[in-house]
Amino acid sequence: MQRVAIAGFGAIGKVVAEHLDRGIEGLALAAVSARDTARAEAAMAGFACPVPVLPLAQLAEAADIVVDCSDNFATRHAVNRACVSAQKPLVSGAAIRFDGQIAVFDARDRSEPCYHCLFGEGDDFEETRCATMGVFAPLVGIIGASQAAEALKLLASAGDSLAGRLLMLDALAMEWREVRVLKDPECAVCAPGANR
Ligand SMILES: [Zn+2]
Repeated sequence: MQRVAIAGFGAIGKVVAEHLDRGIEGLALAAVSARDTARAEAAMAGFACPVPVLPLAQLAEAADIVVDCSDNFATRHAVNRACVSAQKPLVSGAAIRFDGQIAVFDARDRSEPCYHCLFGEGDDFEETRCATMGVFAPLVGIIGASQAAEALKLLASAGDSLAGRLLMLDALAMEWREVRVLKDPECAVCAPGANR
């Protein structure tokens, strides 16, 4: 977030994912000028500035780019649904132990896959959170910086985004792998007529 802030693009917002854990659809947002460094840092550090509470869908509508740095599937799927509804690009990143991944899901193009196409809800696997499983600290910086790079590229319409691609980093071997992400024509979120 700081890397995006110092680039000086408009405004940034931060969503408090903990609200989702309590079943609240309205999420807190700190909207601050990216050029107002002091206020931006205060907001990122702990919401020292006034924080309006807005519905997630409204936040996505107001955003140009959404960057997901959450650590649980419930939040990621909720953010994805909001992005698909609002047709906003989603820069998704995750890190646990020595494994990281980053992808872009660009809902502006209906032919592109969404997060749900790749990670369906209700799949039979156990969620692992970095809060309980641990994460190699530099990995968070690597993935976060990569997300910032993709967000800034999307804002500036520069180069080719990661849309439709998933990058996976094995930090132990320091190897990146890339796989294509295909759109699920039956996706419950982004398929035509899906009930989001
Ligand atoms: Zn989808």
